Amino acid sequence: MRVSALSTDLLFLVDDSGGLLTRRAIGAYLGLAIGDALGGTVEFLTPSEIRAAYRVHRDMVGGGWLRLRRGQVTDDTDMALALGRSILSAGRVDAEAAAAAFSDWMRRKPIDIGNTVRRGIAAYRRTGSPESPPCEYDAGNGACMRCLPVALATLGSSIAQVDAANRAQAHVTHNNPTSDAGTLCVLRMVQTALLGGDRAALAAIADELVAEDRMFDYSRKRSENPSGFIVDTLRTVFQSLFATDSFEAALVDCVNRGGDADTTGAITGMIAGALYGPAGIPPRWMRHLAQDVRHACIEQAQGLLKLSPLFAATGAQTQDLSVP
Ligand SMILES: [Mg+2]
Repeated sequence: MRVSALSTDLLFLVDDSGGLLTRRAIGAYLGLAIGDALGGTVEFLTPSEIRAAYRVHRDMVGGGWLRLRRGQVTDDTDMALALGRSILSAGRVDAEAAAAAFSDWMRRKPIDIGNTVRRGIAAYRRTGSPESPPCEYDAGNGACMRCLPVALATLGSSIAQVDAANRAQAHVTHNNPTSDAGTLCVLRMVQTALLGGDRAALAAIADELVAEDRMFDYSRKRSENPSGFIVDTLRTVFQSLFATDSFEAALVDCVNRGGDADTTGAITGMIAGALYGPAGIPPRWMRHLAQDVRHACIEQAQGLLKLSPLFAATGAQTQDLSVP
């Protein structure tokens, strides 16, 4: 199947009767990138500052403190793509390969990089160890924002195997139990959505996390101006996801809360993209997303899915969607 109209919309993909899983995986990867690019505009703004500037921020316009070009993504998407490349070349999630890929990415002087990420990569270069020491303060959202390739490559694995694979990539920079628990929850939500789970099924997974650790309780105060703390991040993501019923509504709700909006956007986008599929992504966002990023997301989504135990076990068809 040729894909030739990606710059306008993805609706034609849905005409295909097979490959539902593949389409959801592509939706998740594009959702991550689109949430990042949309949220980057309003990162570090408060909801009232966003209202003053945009009334409602709902278009991909670039700008923000990073002076983004329209459709440009930040470290969230770039690190996911770096991790994805490492998994595709190693054939599995591998701590050493992930650390090397993150180090290469940092060498290319990214426009944005979190402090914990910078410190973890610097330590890897210094010591050669891809595992940073456990640290109670490293509960930022930097390991979670880039976790999508793990969800795709481990689809069909046990929860313990998914957790172990995630720790391999996460602990390069964030070796922290709260980060691990929150990220595993996101991975399970993405995988459940890929396999056809609905919002209620995703909420049940979020509620398991809350039962384990009450800090994640998202049922009370409205989350606004969330920090980079994984707990703040996921409370925001859950509120946006469960209060809306479309990809667009979830993303608009989420990024207008401001704060670490590129990362709340990226995580909401990967889950909502898996849940609603690429057909749920507004064409105006798809059109503006940087073309090289769009192609990389589509290619990686398919390649990573093919590595998954589910694919190996069932011979599930992932359509080859060649990208122009
Ligand atoms: Mg970012």
